[in-house]
Amino acid sequence: MKYDDILHRCFRCGYCKLTDDYEDFNCPPYRKYRFESFSPGGRMWLIRAWQQGDIQITERFQKILYSCTMCANCVEHCIFPFSDDLANIFIAAREAVTEEGIIPPTVRDYLKSIHAYGNPYKEPAELRGAWADGSPVPVYDGHEYLLYIGCVGSYDERGQLIARAVANILCKIDVTFGILGEEEICDGNEVRALGETWLFDRLARKNIERFKARNIKKIITLDPHAYNTFAGDYKNLGADIEVHHYTQILADRMDSLIPSLKECTATVTYHDPCYLGRHNGLYEEPRSILAALPGITLVDMASNRRNALCCGGGGGNFFSDVLGGGRESPAKIRIDQALDTGARIIAVACPQCAKMLEDAIKAEDREDRLEVADIAEIIERCLG
Ligand code: SF4
Ligand code: SF4
Repeated sequence: MKYDDILHRCFRCGYCKLTDDYEDFNCPPYRKYRFESFSPGGRMWLIRAWQQGDIQITERFQKILYSCTMCANCVEHCIFPFSDDLANIFIAAREAVTEEGIIPPTVRDYLKSIHAYGNPYKEPAELRGAWADGSPVPVYDGHEYLLYIGCVGSYDERGQLIARAVANILCKIDVTFGILGEEEICDGNEVRALGETWLFDRLARKNIERFKARNIKKIITLDPHAYNTFAGDYKNLGADIEVHHYTQILADRMDSLIPSLKECTATVTYHDPCYLGRHNGLYEEPRSILAALPGITLVDMASNRRNALCCGGGGGNFFSDVLGGGRESPAKIRIDQALDTGARIIAVACPQCAKMLEDAIKAEDREDRLEVADIAEIIERCLG
């Protein structure tokens, strides 16, 4: 297995599962299960034991491996020089398990759907652009930017609302963009995270060909997951693209929005999505948008930026749910952390975070105290 030479270098000192101040456990599966084997270091040791033939691929081993949300808290907090490789080590282990053909059923279902339908919802490609029906959003035809929506924004009802809000605001500030509609295909970020490298490679190369054929050079993504793979993996595969998350575009152009905004009084806290924050260092752009909205008071949760707790949906868990729910699920803990700030709105910049956190609020009956809204939806409210 790739990274074999690193596995034995983990000391199991445990810094990787903590926050900067060592006050909180911040590795979602460890925080939920409190078994050392679910911590980053424990997972490293189990992978090593499997590689040495000391343990087999049991259901328990699969749960430990696939409950990692690729949140990168361990990457940020491991104090050793191999820290940058940690998430990639877990992906490589999933890849090796996939080669053995023994993966959790929900992971298998997800991958099969992507392979057969190009999306995890088993929906036809013709419906991929349906979120934009009735809006003036054009199909890409030489525009300055491609707006790439991704599977959740395209097919999930909650994601579609966010896609429409982002598209409306981009129109409002005169960004020239088009979408691929039914021609758009899955970006593959989760496929790669789940270790299906062959399928990821196929999706990435297909997307890159498509971008090239249409001379697409600049992309705005709705979803931080797509941003992550386009800006990192696709560039490594030779894609000649400039990639922006929509919050970067809006943060740059707030001056043109501000004259149209009315006062919109609310206390808001912001949840950092792992694929924008820890994976790509984009912490301030979303905050600068919120801070510029008239009437909005922005308060940070105690765990923020590189210490933010993942919503639990990363690394394919949004679809596979290997990590699972319950009182100790990261989304529920995150909701408590948001409530502690006194905020009435938890702002997000990712459709997957929106769903995860909204489901947790519903499950806890907290709808009267806290609401999830994407940054684009909050701007829309201020536009009246
Ligand atoms: S991954 Fe790094 S921080 Fe975590 S236990 Fe191993 S050596 Fe320590
Ligand atoms: S990436 Fe996140 S979930 Fe996975 S082991 Fe590291 S801290 Fe835990």
